[in-house]
Amino acid sequence: METTAATPPRSLSTEAVHAGREDLADLGLHAPPLDLSTTYPSRDSRAEAARIDAFAATGAQPDGPPVYSRLDNPTTARFETALARLEGTESAVAFASGMAALTACLLVRSSMGLRHVVAVRPLYGCSDHLLTAGLLGSEVSWVDPDGIAEAIRPDTGLVMVESPANPTLAEVDLGAVARACGEVPLLADNTFATPVLQRPAEHGARIVLHSATKYLGGHGDVLGGVVACDEEFARKLRQVRFATGGVLHPLAGYLLLRGLATLPVRVRAASATAALLAERLAGDPRVTRVHYPKLGGAMVAFEIEGDPHEVIAGVRLITPAVSLGSVDSLIQHPASISHRIVDADDRRSSGVSDRLLRMSVGLEDVEDLWQDLDAALGAPLSARPAPARGADAPVPDPAVR
Ligand SMILES: *Cc1c(COP(=O)(O)O)cnc(C)c1O
Repeated sequence: METTAATPPRSLSTEAVHAGREDLADLGLHAPPLDLSTTYPSRDSRAEAARIDAFAATGAQPDGPPVYSRLDNPTTARFETALARLEGTESAVAFASGMAALTACLLVRSSMGLRHVVAVRPLYGCSDHLLTAGLLGSEVSWVDPDGIAEAIRPDTGLVMVESPANPTLAEVDLGAVARACGEVPLLADNTFATPVLQRPAEHGARIVLHSATKYLGGHGDVLGGVVACDEEFARKLRQVRFATGGVLHPLAGYLLLRGLATLPVRVRAASATAALLAERLAGDPRVTRVHYPKLGGAMVAFEIEGDPHEVIAGVRLITPAVSLGSVDSLIQHPASISHRIVDADDRRSSGVSDRLLRMSVGLEDVEDLWQDLDAALGAPLSARPAPARGADAPVPDPAVR
């Protein structure tokens, strides 16, 4: 499935529909085959022993017929080939979820005695939790981007950032951050931007993480994670994946490869709608602050003067649900859901206000979305009738300050 030296570089849109599928016509196939085998019969156990030895020694993707699907699956391998091509990395390694992918990255480094992580908030709530709770025996130093270089120690294994970050859409200068990391690998979570808008490896990130559950899958029906990186790191990730078992199901691999084909059109269309909504929200008296990345994208976050719980209860077209990146629009309240597990003070000090709502803009018509948001936002507080004796006053939730 390698492109030959004579193949001219192709654009992202072309790679999205062809990468990982180059051999299909020669196989007489159009759709990629879905291989659900857990095991692979072989009468040549000497050859299998040699493949297992080679994998144990190097972590290279085994040649020849697969042995067992925790080690190797051809459908998942197509998705990995395609994602690596889109991110501009040598390799990619897929996992059962974004969190399984992050876990494997941390284990690779801590197994080398490098258990310290330098990270910039905000991160996705569960990533923050995994680091803060030290569940994998790691220790984290939370810093601002300009404090990275100073926070690095001899046992620092990773520097981790998200840009745009979940849920505030805060951006960091990936190139500057990568330079501050020196020899320490920079792990950039690129879930929000996708390779359509940003390819962190081009800016010096050695490890590019995705919750494939989001834009890569794109239809809210597949959980997965993937790490795009150089082959040296990929080999270590494959060995950890084999030993710990967080593999992507082949049906998920099939759906993710299918999702990649429409990734560029989905991201561009949803981003155009999101930019329009961000503009309208910014001019709305019920909205106190809008967060929309300079990079663009299909995520919009906004703080409101009213009660965010009412907006979640009030939407009718937009799906009130955590997660993002689907063809339909989703809205959620980070302080209640995606970032609930982060300590409230840490959450607030990293810019995740209790009045913040995070919306993942889908492929609906912009006017229909605006109508739904407009209705869910309700009347401006100033235009609401004064409540009799204060009994029914629109008192904000006590948890919301
Ligand atoms: C959802 C998410 C994750 C975790 O991914 P799962 O697939 O849910 O395990 C990690 N990072 C970001 C930015 C996310 O949005």
